[in-house]
Amino acid sequence: MPADALTGEAAAVKLAPVVVLDRDGVINHDSKDFIRSPAEWLPIAGSLEAIARLTRAGWLVVVATNQSGVGRGLITPESLTAIHARMTAAIESAGGQLAGLFWCPHRPDEGCDCRKPAPGLFRQIEAALGRSIAGSPAVGDSARDLAAARAAGARPILVRTGNGAATAAALDEPVETYADLAAVADALLQEKARGAGSAS
Ligand SMILES: [Mg+2]
Ligand SMILES: [Zn+2]
Repeated sequence: MPADALTGEAAAVKLAPVVVLDRDGVINHDSKDFIRSPAEWLPIAGSLEAIARLTRAGWLVVVATNQSGVGRGLITPESLTAIHARMTAAIESAGGQLAGLFWCPHRPDEGCDCRKPAPGLFRQIEAALGRSIAGSPAVGDSARDLAAARAAGARPILVRTGNGAATAAALDEPVETYADLAAVADALLQEKARGAGSAS
């Protein structure tokens, strides 16, 4: 479910590298009781600056997030909109920009095709951008984020924030892992500087 119109010139959108970010546990602190209001949305240290650095380097930063609290009746659509307005404002005050924000509002039992580990949100991103995101980095803190990235042909990256440490401990195959989003941004920017980026 795309929230915002994609920004930027169409031609630039075709050429710029894309990075897909999970929200809870990657950009902001997660809660097992769900993030239900803007006041509960608290950024992880360094995440806003990481998005700003990626934005300044020409990356299209897109968020893809499971928000089953909506389908469970715990988060109203209005609250989700307000939470996302707070997040967007925080990112913009740090100097960053989101090129898109996509979420799945469904409960697991609804069997939708957009709740990660399904790749539906990635397909929505591709439809909105008008291009493939195969090989693009996709950052998450849970096994379902990695599985969705794999299913979409993206490059799964795990961060140890949020559920990430527990996810790392339970991995059945190795995956590219960093301490947090700031470390991911460092790695992607160094890669791009070397001209060796796989995100294209
Ligand atoms: Mg998460
Ligand atoms: Zn869904």
